[in-house]
Amino acid sequence: MTGIMAGKRGLIMGLANDRSLAWGIAKQLRDQGAELAFSYQGEALEKRVRPLAEQLGSDILVDCDVSNMEALDRTFEALKQRWDRLDFVVHAIGFSDKNELRGGYVDTSLENFLMTMNISVYSFVAVAQRARAMMTDGGSLLTLTYYGAEKVIPHYNVMGVAKAALETSVKYLAADLGRENIRVNAISAGPIKTLAASGIGDFRYIMKWNEYNAPLRRNVTIEDVGGAGLYLCSDLASGVTGEIHHVDAGYNVVGMKAEDAPDI
Ligand code: NAD
Repeated sequence: MTGIMAGKRGLIMGLANDRSLAWGIAKQLRDQGAELAFSYQGEALEKRVRPLAEQLGSDILVDCDVSNMEALDRTFEALKQRWDRLDFVVHAIGFSDKNELRGGYVDTSLENFLMTMNISVYSFVAVAQRARAMMTDGGSLLTLTYYGAEKVIPHYNVMGVAKAALETSVKYLAADLGRENIRVNAISAGPIKTLAASGIGDFRYIMKWNEYNAPLRRNVTIEDVGGAGLYLCSDLASGVTGEIHHVDAGYNVVGMKAEDAPDI
């Protein structure tokens, strides 16, 4: 295949269906010639993920719950069986008990705090540890975050705290792995209707607010996120690491509701 990703191989983690951010990124990587492998969470998702992977010419699929370190080891072992080198990983994974993604942060339980941090933050570190060994010619690690890490978004609660830890992890990992020419970045995506987002209280209101107040006066799509994902995984971003790149129609630069914005 030709394209800016020709000859590059990468793992996509967190594909659930064709609305997933991971799908938007994977499609554009494939369009530009990348060879892809996919990990999915549990048998139930396999029947959704397999046909999507096949559409993108991939037959490398691994069942991997990222809270299980042995499953992560098996995932990278499976990759090693097929590939001698890895160029990029897209980590599009986050999870929290949806009962705590409504109401206030003050009510967060210890159990859900630890689970959210484990699945949504530590897993990226655990992936970096394993991917590094296969990135013998440098590489790119990419994760997904949200503005709720920077400012309070109603109901985002413990996910906001987890995303703040994830963003800081991006910077520490970038510093650790830079000498190996492994770049570590995040896309901070605006709100998009996906399976994971449906667990967040009043998500439709968040989307409307974003649409009315973002400079571009619209919400972003998985194609918008895919374009930025392609850039960050490719050599076009060869000098970019430790970056939290907003793909949010500009929402993060706005300090006040615009006069012409309709009441919502
Ligand atoms: P999605 O539901 O399509 O994807 C979430 C994925 O996480 C699913 O594939 C799910 O299987 C996986 N996952 C959850 N727990 C897991 C575990 N223990 N092991 C392995 N996989 C697990 O939703 P999405 O919106 O595409 O989410 C992808 C990423 O993008 C998440 O990190 C999310 O926080 C982030 N994000 C989403 C939005 C949005 O508005 N949708 C905005 C900014 C950032």
